[in-house]
Amino acid sequence: MIDKLVAQLKHARRVTVMTGAGVSAASGIPTFRGDGGLWRSFRAEELATPEAFERDPAFVWEWYEWRRAKIASCAPNAAHHVLAEWSRRSPHCTVITQNVDDLHVRAGTERLVRLHGSIWELSCWDRCGVAPWRDERVPLVDRPARCVGCGGIARPAVVWFGESLSAADMDAALRACACDLFIAAGTSAIVYPAAGLLQHAKACGAVTAEINIEPTPASGAVDLAIQGAAELVFPQLAAELPRLW
Ligand code: NAD
Ligand code: ZN
Repeated sequence: MIDKLVAQLKHARRVTVMTGAGVSAASGIPTFRGDGGLWRSFRAEELATPEAFERDPAFVWEWYEWRRAKIASCAPNAAHHVLAEWSRRSPHCTVITQNVDDLHVRAGTERLVRLHGSIWELSCWDRCGVAPWRDERVPLVDRPARCVGCGGIARPAVVWFGESLSAADMDAALRACACDLFIAAGTSAIVYPAAGLLQHAKACGAVTAEINIEPTPASGAVDLAIQGAAELVFPQLAAELPRLW
């Protein structure tokens, strides 16, 4: 299967890679589903929602402070580095991520599409009109964090369950689906609309591939399903590829 993917990579002019939490797992960042995903016996679906924040912003912020501290102590892994290198090498290689950890950013990925925002950015809960701002302090000084515009409560500038993705990011992602090869890596392919991008790419005529340590709902639908860890498979692919794009 790896050989088949290498062959596709060699022929493809436009390549899009969509990543999920599994790509950051080897960096030490827990996925939501699976071992280590729980925080004090709460599931992410109970914390990463506007309703949970409305009910108890300080509590949800406590979880984000825990995640931010964890992510701050982690570094990009081999998968992030290979993808960053590909993005630098070719303007026709696009990386779309569902991850909010910014490890792709830290690895130097160009033209990255962050579908779910960044855990290192904050925005105003009351939508006072101030643009999202970056704050990488761990821990944040105010609890809960305050809006730099109106002084009200600030929230993590991430897309929560039940919220819509930014139109600009979704547009960029849909445009990137018009490619020759679309690879979904480390994503359970459950969370829409990201999961729908794979189907959209296929409908646009792309060859589709998946890299995951276990079968997912997408495995049966993709042209090439590779069972393996992203941090091992991407360096293997990179080693097989001549410096052509
Ligand atoms: P997900 O739906 O993307 O599932 C993780 C997938 O990664 C699983 O299918 C698992 O089999 C696979 N996986 C685990 N280790 C792997 C490895 N080494 N190589 C390849 N595949 C591997 O992610 P989720 O955890 O269910 O979270 C859903 C949403 O929550 C994400 O879209 C994201 O917005 C957010 N989230 C982000 C982060 C982060 O930024 N690092 C972490 C957790 C959750
Ligand atoms: Zn404000």
